[in-house]
Amino acid sequence: MSNPQETPLSERLSLVFFGLRNAGKSSLLNAFLGSQTAIVSPTPGTTTDPVTRAFELGELGPVAITDTAGLDDEGDLGKLRVQKSRDKIAVCDVPILVSRADLPPTELEMTIWNELAEKKPALTLVLTHADLGLHPEKKVWAEPRNAAAVDNLSGAGVPELRKLLQRRAALAEREISPLEGLVNENDFLILVTPIDLAAPKGRLILPQVETIRDVLDKDCACLVVKERELKSFYDNLGLKPKLVVCDSQVFSKVASDIPEEQALTSFSILFGRKKGELSVYLAGIAALANQPADAKVLVLEACAHHKQADDIGTVKIPRLFHQLVQSRAVFHHRRDIPDEEELKTFSLVINCAGCMVSRNRMLSRIEKFRKLGIPVINYGLFLAWANGLLPRAILPFPEAEALLGRAAPPSKPGTASI
Ligand code: SF4
Repeated sequence: MSNPQETPLSERLSLVFFGLRNAGKSSLLNAFLGSQTAIVSPTPGTTTDPVTRAFELGELGPVAITDTAGLDDEGDLGKLRVQKSRDKIAVCDVPILVSRADLPPTELEMTIWNELAEKKPALTLVLTHADLGLHPEKKVWAEPRNAAAVDNLSGAGVPELRKLLQRRAALAEREISPLEGLVNENDFLILVTPIDLAAPKGRLILPQVETIRDVLDKDCACLVVKERELKSFYDNLGLKPKLVVCDSQVFSKVASDIPEEQALTSFSILFGRKKGELSVYLAGIAALANQPADAKVLVLEACAHHKQADDIGTVKIPRLFHQLVQSRAVFHHRRDIPDEEELKTFSLVINCAGCMVSRNRMLSRIEKFRKLGIPVINYGLFLAWANGLLPRAILPFPEAEALLGRAAPPSKPGTASI
């Protein structure tokens, strides 16, 4: 079990070391970390599956470092390993191509560099075995790419690599915080968090914890209250909160207990924006009107959270969907995205808030759906819509005007009870 004091993996800067077999990735990692953390062997293909570990790296802060299998791995199993490595590269912040200094660049290295250069601004090149000299062709290729050179055995070049990674990491697109752009210093908020059977015993869930921390980081204050006590506290506060954030499952009660003009959104929408694209989800809401009579809906959750009897993904959302959108819709629940052929059979995808995974991972999912023309929404937006709370629940966001201008205005369903 992870230490609750630690930064979750999804919130860490993710660094992925990749390259050909025996490029020296694992020994580079050991030199980089100053420990025998990664398995090192002169036998090509020692690292079989990507291994991710969390570290605190001084100037780089909390990082998640992944060592991957060689990209030139062979055979059926090798191909699977290569795919796993590529999946990790696709969703990381800083991909680090590890290549031997004493050998010329290969076609594969040059191709993958070119593939990633446009998508990943923090892409970094490290030349290992620098003690064996720099091959003239590698020199020509590496020079415009600002490579760092490291001698894996002595560790020479590691301080320079750390400095280079610090500069490159600054180029990576990082996740925003839950309340980014929504509040100013000294603002006051109310956070409504139900403590029911679905709530984990003795603690709050990650979106609530991260939002409270963000309140403090932004020099604001908040009242954390259950939905039952909200109305009496709200009515007796004597000051108007800048924002009320509630759990999506109590949207309807919260909206009825506070004035219409009070800014209101949900934790799930905050995280839908932090981890994904609200504009994509809003377009997905607009597409609810066009769902076929035999709609096939994929509900994608990003982790195996404990499920209760009235679970949001397996019970509440299908029930509302059958009431408000399409009574014959068939639901499929998954944690991983099906292959492309199966994915094409779905008419809609409903994402969870993705609180346990990185924004890059959620964006890479969304991109797959976009390419296939499958509309996608998330729990928070769907529940806001089902409760007749769109566009209200997105009005607090600074980008609301642009969002509403771009997506067709979401049609309001009838009153739903969840
Ligand atoms: S299923 Fe999704 S929203 Fe629920 S805890 Fe896991 S990542 Fe977070």
